[in-house]
Amino acid sequence: MRAVGEGSKPLPPGANVSMFVPRDVYGVVRPRTVDEVRDIVRAFARTEEGPRLQALSTGRNWGLGSREPARDGVVTLELGGLDAVRELSVEGGWAVVEPGVTQLRLAELLAGTGRMLNVTASSGHTSVLGNAVDRGVGLRRQRTLDLVGLEVVLPDGELIRTGWWPHGEHPGAINPQGLGPSPLALFTQSDLGIVTAGVVRLLPRPEAQCVLRLGFGSGRLAEAVDELRRWTAQGLVSGVLKVYDPVSTRSYGGLGDEYLTHLCVSGTERSVAAVTRVVEEEAEESGLFTRVLRSDEHPPAPDDLVARAVERLYAGDPSRNEAMLRSAVGQEADRVDAEGGGWLFFLPLIPFTGPSVARAQELLDRVHAETGIRPGSTVNALDPDVVDLVVSFRFPRTEHHARQAHRALDRTYELFAEAGFHPYRLDSDHHAWMDRFSGDPAARAFVRRLKETLDPRRVIAPGRYA
Ligand SMILES: Cc1cc2nc3c(=O)[nH]c(=O)nc-3n(C[C@H](O)[C@H](O)[C@H](O)COP(=O)(O)OP(=O)(O)OC[C@H]3O[C@@H](n4cnc5c(N)ncnc54)[C@H](O)[C@@H]3O)c2cc1C
Repeated sequence: MRAVGEGSKPLPPGANVSMFVPRDVYGVVRPRTVDEVRDIVRAFARTEEGPRLQALSTGRNWGLGSREPARDGVVTLELGGLDAVRELSVEGGWAVVEPGVTQLRLAELLAGTGRMLNVTASSGHTSVLGNAVDRGVGLRRQRTLDLVGLEVVLPDGELIRTGWWPHGEHPGAINPQGLGPSPLALFTQSDLGIVTAGVVRLLPRPEAQCVLRLGFGSGRLAEAVDELRRWTAQGLVSGVLKVYDPVSTRSYGGLGDEYLTHLCVSGTERSVAAVTRVVEEEAEESGLFTRVLRSDEHPPAPDDLVARAVERLYAGDPSRNEAMLRSAVGQEADRVDAEGGGWLFFLPLIPFTGPSVARAQELLDRVHAETGIRPGSTVNALDPDVVDLVVSFRFPRTEHHARQAHRALDRTYELFAEAGFHPYRLDSDHHAWMDRFSGDPAARAFVRRLKETLDPRRVIAPGRYA
């Protein structure tokens, strides 16, 4: 185990790419085994004084605070050193991984097999578990749907396995809820335990895939979104349909000055050929799209980093993500926080309807008019009813520009809250919004009671969702 700077003075503040206020961090502990994690937790449980523990996996939560805790007075528990793929079953469709296992590594292990990982558009060097416990989103679906079991160190040092775990010689069929009340969800976006491993599902690899790129002008936004929603509801679309607005296309290194949809069709050779033709016909008949390009007939141009990456991402391959990351923040994964260009995220869920997406776009226009900052947005359709709208703010990394970008972010929180568009993930500066967004106060009090019961000594620091 390695420990850095555990003392009575905070460490010098670290940099984060979003320029969120750095908190007082009194040390960093890097355990290498689960037993070491348990020992650390027990040591903190022996005292009620002093800094409390904040867990992270690879700490690349860029746009939401990176490694920054939500509050002062923590010791950071970095779990990247627990990096074993403990078990992997291509036949059963699951892998048992530790927090340091990156999406690139797991995806590479699956190359050429009948399974693939639901990968995100972030760097290949981000953690599968870190992203899943923060309820991130991949190109196939939300990562919580991949998470079927968690190994957790509780605040008293006890180790539990919740959800589904393969049982020895006869692993059985995956059943994330198990029997009776399921504690699995208690440990995502949570300060109730420290995750030391998880079971993630591996999706069947489609035999064939075609990605369509459909452009449309801003004047057709609501109608085009309604049409795309119709195709999604009728089963023409595989995975998460994406629509980049022109600002976000450029932010991530894509080409084009109109809205651009990326739509995946996957299945057998014959089903993909048939459904792709149906989508082309529907698009033609709607009269809404300026162009419809198929990945097999019109592969993306070499400098169209977004289309090139997205095409591979649907197939579970994050190897082109680093180019997109460099375009977004100007740096490799290891240097994003120290030297990358400024980057913030706001992540609301909104209804998958043309009027809702158009309304969100109006709100972002208002943010631009009021603050001078033009946010980019990407529609990620999670299902026929729900869009994860990724709103990004890029800014030069100076105090002045950071103030302006943060003002724009604050204003976006306000305007979206008023419109009923609530975020599903929070950044390290906006944890105070939990009370406003978390619905029934009695349910919130219930979770606080659980924290009180499980962690009376406050071993684990209250996080972004406390
Ligand atoms: C260009 C770009 C594209 C991006 N694309 C995506 C995308 O497509 N989808 C997406 O979801 N995000 C995306 N992101 C955001 C972010 O980079 C990813 O979500 C990333 O996976 C999070 O970092 P991490 O995996 O290192 O997790 P970490 O930073 O290690 O963990 C995230 C949080 O989860 C909790 N946590 C982590 N590990 C543990 C543990 N072991 N026990 C208890 N709690 C824990 C902590 O609260 C921690 O702060 C993108 C960012 C950029 C800049």
